Amino acid sequence: MTEKVTIIGSGPAGWTAAIYTARAELNPIVYEGAFTEENRQKGTLPLGQLSLTTEVENFPGFPFGDMTGYLDSSIAKDKRQYMAPHGKHGVSGPELMELMRQQATNFGTRIVTDDIVSVDLSQRPFKLKTLSGEEFTSHAIIIATGARANYLGLPSEDAFKNRGVSACAVCDGALPRFRNKPVVVVGGGDSAMEEANFLTKFASVVYIIHRRDSFRASRIMAERALNNHKIQVKWNSTIDEVLGDDKNGVTGVRIRSTVDASKTETLEATGYFAAIGHTPNTDFLNGQVQTNEKGYIVWPTAHRTYTSVEGVFAAGDVADDYFRQAITAAGSGCMAALDAERWLSAQGIE
Ligand code: NAP
Repeated sequence: MTEKVTIIGSGPAGWTAAIYTARAELNPIVYEGAFTEENRQKGTLPLGQLSLTTEVENFPGFPFGDMTGYLDSSIAKDKRQYMAPHGKHGVSGPELMELMRQQATNFGTRIVTDDIVSVDLSQRPFKLKTLSGEEFTSHAIIIATGARANYLGLPSEDAFKNRGVSACAVCDGALPRFRNKPVVVVGGGDSAMEEANFLTKFASVVYIIHRRDSFRASRIMAERALNNHKIQVKWNSTIDEVLGDDKNGVTGVRIRSTVDASKTETLEATGYFAAIGHTPNTDFLNGQVQTNEKGYIVWPTAHRTYTSVEGVFAAGDVADDYFRQAITAAGSGCMAALDAERWLSAQGIE
């Protein structure tokens, strides 16, 4: 059997595309990813980047309050054990993703916990292959595989992920552990400037650790950071090690000079934010869909989620290196579903 529409990815874009295509009776199938060690290390497990965050305070519709009753009524108890504790909060990233997944399921979406490892887009219906070796065909594909934050790759970074190590200040910056405490941001691009500025709302001091003596960031963003009295820049420096312990998580960093490698300095900090860019998850496409110079999928037609291959649509962070928000990903997932539905209908596939 050839699928009508296959959705690859299980973040807000993928689940929104699933909700819409399921309600349009296209009987969608979602490949949500596989629970492999490689995916864990890369940050590409099922439910995407949001499953790696804590509170989500900016997704409309989830104000601060007691979510217990609602969550108990919507998500099976055995799926909630790793989520935020009951009680007053907005919604956590994992909760939001489980809610979207459940909503997609409620409308009949079929979900496969596996990765798509390769595709053949040279002819329709398209051919797809999974990590477990299954091969199948699909008339339309919605790519919603997202992007993953880049980390430096230090073992000490990995050891304290979610316990002070983060790649998203907007997601995690307001957590109690960062309030009135020093934190560090690594990077010299616009993201690093934005994250550092944002973190000054909460932290006592924000150190920007940058490997060169000038920023890559746009002048306006760099100046804003340089003029912020709570931000101190450590130029020509890299992170040697993230310091911490089991009880407290991150307690500081040791930085090393890129000019004189014998010089190190230890900074106390409760937070470490990597802002050294993102990598879109497009390896499985093997260059068959047009991407921009940073590897993100291109939408050749304005306001449409079409890709360079007819019948293949893209939504969410895999096609967005600019906004990268849960709500914008969800919005483009909806657009991809509607684009796919109309395209399938024009092909006589309903
Ligand atoms: P980016 O512009 O690629 O900057 C990455 C930064 O991380 C660079 O300063 C780079 O250093 C540093 N870096 C990379 N690998 C490193 C490593 N291994 N060790 C130490 N440092 C490393 O990425 P971005 O800041 O995420 O921005 C991505 C895009 O989004 C840009 O086009 C940006 O303009 C845009 N953006 C815009 C806004 C806004 O306008 N509000 C906000 C955020 C992002 P070098 O400089 O030495 O290479």
